This record gives sequence, C-alpha cells and structure tokens, in this order.
Amino acid sequence: MKDNFDLIIIGGGILGTSISYFLSFLNKSKNIAVIEQENSVAQHTSGRNTGKVHAPYLYNPEKKKLFANSAFHGYEMWKEYSKLHNLPFKEDGVIEVALDEKGIKVLEKYLKWGIENGLEETDIKLIDKKELKKSEPEIKCEAALYVHRDGSTDYSTLTNSIMNDSKKNGINFLFNKKITQIKKNNDKWEITINGDNKIFTNFLINAAGGQAINIAHNMGVGKNLTDVHFRGEYWKTPKKYHNLTKTSVYSVPEFPDYPFLDPHWIVRVDGSCEIGPNAVPVFSPYGYEITENIKKFIPKILEMLGSGARKTIFDKQFQELAFSEIQSSISKTVMIKRVKQFIPKINPKEITVKGTSGIRSSVIDEYGKFVPDVILLQGNSSFHILNYNSPGATGALPFSVHVINQLQKMGMFENEDTNAQCGPWKFNEIIEKLEK
Ligand SMILES: Cc1cc2nc3c(=O)[nH]c(=O)nc-3n(C[C@H](O)[C@H](O)[C@H](O)COP(=O)(O)OP(=O)(O)OC[C@H]3O[C@@H](n4cnc5c(N)ncnc54)[C@H](O)[C@@H]3O)c2cc1C
Repeated sequence: MKDNFDLIIIGGGILGTSISYFLSFLNKSKNIAVIEQENSVAQHTSGRNTGKVHAPYLYNPEKKKLFANSAFHGYEMWKEYSKLHNLPFKEDGVIEVALDEKGIKVLEKYLKWGIENGLEETDIKLIDKKELKKSEPEIKCEAALYVHRDGSTDYSTLTNSIMNDSKKNGINFLFNKKITQIKKNNDKWEITINGDNKIFTNFLINAAGGQAINIAHNMGVGKNLTDVHFRGEYWKTPKKYHNLTKTSVYSVPEFPDYPFLDPHWIVRVDGSCEIGPNAVPVFSPYGYEITENIKKFIPKILEMLGSGARKTIFDKQFQELAFSEIQSSISKTVMIKRVKQFIPKINPKEITVKGTSGIRSSVIDEYGKFVPDVILLQGNSSFHILNYNSPGATGALPFSVHVINQLQKMGMFENEDTNAQCGPWKFNEIIEKLEK
C-alpha cells in the first residue's frame, strides 16, 4: 500500500465518493485516496435509505439553504448521470398529504418553500381530495401537494458508478481500512489504519457520515457539538400492494422540528413498496443490531451527558417522541397504522418482511438544539462535513462541488483546472448555478 498522499477523503459513502469524482477530473497530478472501513462503497447510510431524489419543498429556505439548493440541482444532475450510464432513475413524483385543516396550512407553507427553493409552478401543485382521488383512488386525505419533480433511484448503484469513474481517473479506493487514530506528525497527518498501519497525508477531508463528529473531535474540531443516532426501520409489503399507488406518499409531519419521524408509503425504483422509516434512538451509527447498541450504550450516554445533548435527553417532548418511536420498533402494527391513516387498504397482518434499516446521525449544538443544516468546519489542513443528513444523497453531486469550491477559496487546490469537464458537466458552470 502506498503510504503518502496529497489528500485523503475519509468515507466511501455517496458524499466522499462524489467529492473524489470531481477532484479526479480537476487535478490528475495529485495523489488522492478514499479510505473506507467496509469492503465496498455505500455500505452504511448511502446504501440504506429511502432512495428518493427529493424535491426541495420540505426545507425552510432560510434554515436549510445548503440542503435545499443542493437537492434542487442534484435532481437534474442525477437524472442526467443516470441516463448517460443507463442507471435506475424514475421521475415518478411524490405526494405529500394533509389529514386535517392544520395539515393543509403546512402544505401551503411547503408549496411556498418549494417555489422559493427553485421549483416551477408546474413542478408542484396543491390539490383537493377530489382531484387526487382521480389519479390515486386508494389515498385518503383532505388535500395533497403533488410534486412532479421528484424521483426514485438506487443510491448504492449510483455511488458504485461514481466510484468507477473516479478510479478510472486515478483516485485510489482503499477498502477494509478503518481509521483508528489521526495525529499531526510535522506538517503531515499521520493516520493509523486498523490499529497499526500508518499512512500520511497533507490534507484530509472528513466525510465519515455517522463517525464524522468523532473524527472531528479527534482532530480538535467541533468540540461544542455532539450527535444522536436514530435507526430508520422499514417493512416490505407483499406484491399485491405494489400497485396500490403510482407514487410514494408522505404525510405532513406531526412535529415539524423532527420531519423524519413520520413513516411514508414508499414506491421504490424497482416498483416494490415499503413502509418506513421510523426513527428509533440508538447508541451507535452502526447500531443495526442489539449487540452493537449494548456495547456503545454507556460511552454514548456519558458523552451525551457531558454535552449539549444533556438538555435534549431531559426534554419532555423528546422523551415522549423517543418512547413512541421505540414502540413503533417493537410493534410493527403501531408503525404500519401511521401509514394506514392515509392508505386504509393496508393490513399489518399481511406485512411480515423487514426491510434494510439505515441510521441517521443528527448533530446537537451546545444549547441542546438539533442543527437543521449541514455543518462545514475548517480545521488545520482539514475540512469536516457534519450533519450530512437527508436529502444528502439527492444533493451529493452539487454539494461536493460546493465543498471543493470552499476548499479552493481557502487556497487548497488552487492550481486546478476549474474549467474542467467533469463527466457531463463543466465544473465552473455547476458553481455558477449553485451561486445564482
Ligand atoms: C433512513 C434514512 C433514509 C434516507 N432517505 C433519503 C432519501 O430518500 N433521499 C436522500 O437524498 N437522502 C436520504 N437519506 C440521507 C442520505 O442517505 C445521507 O445524507 C447520505 O447517504 C450520507 O452520505 P455520507 O456519504 O455522508 O455517509 P455514509 O453513507 O454513512 O458514508 C460514510 C462512510 O464513512 C465510512 N467511515 C466512517 N468512519 C470511518 C473510519 N473511521 N474509517 C474508515 N471509514 C469510515 C463508513 O463506513 C461509511 O461508509 C436518508 C437517510 C436515512 C438514515
């Protein structure tokens, strides 16, 4: 294994891989590696999500500006990339339903946000229940937002394809390499792999998903922040349900500060349907099973008690929500009933197969508040991306360009050919679109 790099990206998720993709076109002379602890890319959140290419109507344009802008541009980019490489991408839209008057007010707000975030009036329409019944007779609601510019894909397949392009352009992907320690050694970062091997780099990009905050802390960055992990579980539905609706159906979140709490009716890109995800608090970014959670329970609780998350743990609303999510994990019926409210035909007894769960790591600040947008932190010869949650997969391509642009502004990669053609796009033109 080569042991000296100009740049190391930690994390072979959709984000680290997309950053490597653009860098591979911009600079062919730098020695760059993506380090991943698993045996291939997209083994964690990037391969364990809902597979939606989200339209940016759910995101407050002031509080979630970066996510919203990246999702808006990500849709067109993934569509173009998938077409070029013959990868799965369906422009199948999404329906957001309101079950009462209060919900309709929220839909009106979403419509406004969607337009502010770049959607055209033809992309997103508020319709009444009668109009919806014409195209979706099985959905029960008071009103709905029909969002046409929303799609479905398989992010694991997309990440693998992006990796192959990066590799062709000379990026090294080092698998089964868990970074266990990082320290400064003269002017380089000395990185310990799997507890003993050492590699060195001049610069480091931390795109380690659920581990990103621990790595940042290890390097003295973002010490005022901590995170909480939520496992999103899914149930697969039997074939007879696969034609119940044409599109995925989301419902107005009961608690707008926690929009990830309400399970959806999901139509996957292959036409199969699932219900999920819920958001069960767990103690590790890899807490898929009970053994990992037991192992990490005490250290995580101690970490939370010593940080802003202490306030969150003792917050009554958070406790109630956590309890109800745990119930929806223990009882399949509790979770499925939440979706049955708007698709009455489904019967929990007929749904018996679990889907693949994925874990969201949400960052909490020193005041105990969930941080809404992605967090970019500059360290000494390092750059850290924290809180990269939904719609992170949708926005991964344009967001990666944004990250590289920030690094260029810091003086990193200044000799790059910013006019470079990166697959179907010119790098500069993406920046222009993002900054409009
Ligand atoms: C339940 C759920 C549903 C979602 N649905 C959607 C959706 O429909 N649409 C959408 O756009 N977004 C969705 N998201 C969000 C999206 O999946 C994430 O924003 C995105 O996948 C994050 O990518 P990432 O590369 O940052 O993280 P990851 O995919 O988690 O990648 C980080 C990588 O870093 C590696 N790593 C970590 N620590 C180390 C270490 N020490 N050494 C070596 N490697 C390390 C990990 O193994 C991992 O592969 C969803 C998320 C969840 C949880």
